[in-house]
Amino acid sequence: MSEQHNSVDAIIIGAGFSGLYQLHTLRDQLNLSTMVLEAGTDLGGTWFWNRYPGARCDSESYSYCYMFSEEIYKEWSWSERYPGPQEIRNYLDFVAQKLELRSHIKFNTLVTSAHFIEETNQWELTTKNGEIYRATYLITGIGCISSANIPNIPGLKNFKGEWYHTGNWPHEQVSFENKRIGQIGTGSTGIQAAPVIAETAGHLHVFQRTPNYSVPARNAPLTDDWKEHVHKNFKEIKQVVQSTPNGFPYRISTTKVFEQSENERQTAYEKAWQKGGLQFRATYQDITTNKKANDTAAEFLKNKIRTVVRDKETAESLATIDYPYAGKRPPIDTNYFETFNKDNVSLINLKKESIVKITENGIQTTERHIPLDMIIFATGFDAITGKFFEMDIQGRNGISLKETWKEGPKTYLGLQTPGFPNLFTITGPGSPSVLCNMPVAIEQHVEWITHCIEHMRNNKIDTCEASQEAADKWVEHVNEAANATLLVTVPHSWYLGANVVGKPRIFMPYAGGMDRYRALCEDAVKNHYAGFIMNSKNSTNHSKNNLTNHNFDAAKKITTPGI
Ligand code: NAP
Repeated sequence: MSEQHNSVDAIIIGAGFSGLYQLHTLRDQLNLSTMVLEAGTDLGGTWFWNRYPGARCDSESYSYCYMFSEEIYKEWSWSERYPGPQEIRNYLDFVAQKLELRSHIKFNTLVTSAHFIEETNQWELTTKNGEIYRATYLITGIGCISSANIPNIPGLKNFKGEWYHTGNWPHEQVSFENKRIGQIGTGSTGIQAAPVIAETAGHLHVFQRTPNYSVPARNAPLTDDWKEHVHKNFKEIKQVVQSTPNGFPYRISTTKVFEQSENERQTAYEKAWQKGGLQFRATYQDITTNKKANDTAAEFLKNKIRTVVRDKETAESLATIDYPYAGKRPPIDTNYFETFNKDNVSLINLKKESIVKITENGIQTTERHIPLDMIIFATGFDAITGKFFEMDIQGRNGISLKETWKEGPKTYLGLQTPGFPNLFTITGPGSPSVLCNMPVAIEQHVEWITHCIEHMRNNKIDTCEASQEAADKWVEHVNEAANATLLVTVPHSWYLGANVVGKPRIFMPYAGGMDRYRALCEDAVKNHYAGFIMNSKNSTNHSKNNLTNHNFDAAKKITTPGI
């Protein structure tokens, strides 16, 4: 422990959507000395790192923003239906300027460890630059898909060409001009990147292990009428995003698939396809819960692939999908399947030939050697827990978070972990997080954490931590919620941690719906922070409350999951 340290009330890790809003509430509403430590050299979080070609948000811009301030909402106008990384960074910069946040953010500051000190009830953080900070409250705003997953394919170190992971894309322009490019991965990222890379690449080889459904995004510039419309209807839009199960600005249909005739279904799917975007999955209530119902949507989408892609073999490789639509996060695209009609694009079906190794100048499969100038890893993330494990986080008695979560993350409401007092995790594991429109989930967490800290200060409470009982029950309920959906039936999903070798297979986000989740968080507060242990120096009383008042039964029946 060093004597040289900076001491503040609260430290937030990460300067994305979470960190900025949390800084504002703690500093400006609670008057706490607060600072943000950020590894990047500027604002943006996910959108600072994800600058790959074609990157674009899949939430519609008018809902992918803060709604805590009507003034801020109305002062900003988005230019396109789905914003790209630069526009999102511009937006966050606008908010940071408006709220004068930058002076309390330290960039280029990677937190390497955070240890809880029992004697002072403080967190001590060290950074890669060798600085030491202490704070009473530690809040993580580190994102859910921020730890790049580069597969361990033999030979990468020998490759003489360029290679990149989409989640750590260079800030400088990367040229594909006349180059032979190998893109590994066809998730949301790969599906966005391939069409843009193909525009200038000499040849693009897309290495596909698991084919994917995709619905056209139908991105377009927004008209002045639309911009005026969303500003005028701020209150209604906010009401919708805060009451739907997934935080998106549309309602999920209450009609079930087999309540309609085949003709009616085809018409409904076609209409949703033409409209584009994630709301395709909202066409019927039971698409994400009933396999037979899902099959009708899946078949519609597979037929679209077969119609678009001219080469029969390629079309079959793309359309032979053996898991339910939206069982994994469904991508939305701009001309993804059309890209395979270009002469300079080939699909390498890794179900028919697999990658053996990377050579000095290409990729060797079981069938052939494919010469390449560049390899792009669109291979996803060590999601939700990966970023936590990049730091050495130790709670009471020096117990590490990695050890505590070794069989899967155990939190209460995704907000706190037993044994880690005053550590709050914005969109942490066990919260709706990635199953929700992110800014909606983030605002709810930030506001809950702010009220909790305010409650602690008003009542001279030194530490707050989730009880073991609450965490155990919550993990059980998170599983129960996931099991009510088709999400658990996809064995290779990153929601389950299945994309990372050695990661425990546990469904990490809460699938019970953001609306239900919001009510459970409010319920915990109403019940005197049921499930959280509040301690004061002068009294070792656990809060009077415990989970006996706190009833998850109301949450048991999941009819419309939050996905
Ligand atoms: P991802 O969904 O995990 O996809 C990774 C891809 O890489 C998969 O096709 C995977 O195949 C493949 N892959 C991984 N390791 C491989 C290996 N060793 N050999 C061959 N293929 C391999 O990652 P992502 O596309 O980056 O998307 C992650 C999440 O980020 C999304 O689900 C979404 O939530 C978010 N995202 C959002 C947007 C947006 O807002 N528009 C855009 C991009 C991403 P398998 O399926 O076989 O594992």
